[in-house]
Amino acid sequence: MTVIELVQGDITRESADAIVNAANSSLLGGGGVDGAIHRRGGPAILEECRRLRASRYGKGLATGKAVATTAGDLDARWVIHTVGPVFSATEDRSGLLASCYRESLRIADELGARTVAFPAISTGVYRYPIKDAARIAVDAVRAAKTDVEEVRFVLFDERAYEAFAARLR
Ligand code: ADP
Repeated sequence: MTVIELVQGDITRESADAIVNAANSSLLGGGGVDGAIHRRGGPAILEECRRLRASRYGKGLATGKAVATTAGDLDARWVIHTVGPVFSATEDRSGLLASCYRESLRIADELGARTVAFPAISTGVYRYPIKDAARIAVDAVRAAKTDVEEVRFVLFDERAYEAFAARLR
């Protein structure tokens, strides 16, 4: 059984087997949590992302997929990079957002990670409404068949924390 925990704070300060990054398909870094992870994790993460781009993801990592790298200087063994969907008011992209959580946990299982920290994927620059994103995230993790023992959602601000707490209750 997977225990779900909530923390309000900066995911780059967390200790876990794997820390999930809300990356973009280029894998070459960006703003928000992606920028923070690369800043605190140091250059080793970007180096491995560049190699992945060159070897397997020439066209970029597809939305809803995930791939792991070293965690560099972070207090973790791996960073799992996943690409969330950009929110659309006209198209339902919840399946892609759920896939980010599912695929990240599948990669975590492959690695043997037992504790995984997630940010609220797609809720920053990609504009997913926090209430919808919280429902999709919590439900996807609850439904996942995984050996991960602890999933920790690390929410940057109080609004996000409250949205996840409401869905968990
Ligand atoms: P996306 O492009 O998937 O929307 P963002 O990084 O813009 O990704 O935002 C995703 C979420 O991560 C937002 O809720 C944002 O507030 C949050 N966030 C930004 N920095 C951090 C951080 N250091 N730790 C945890 N969450 C963060």
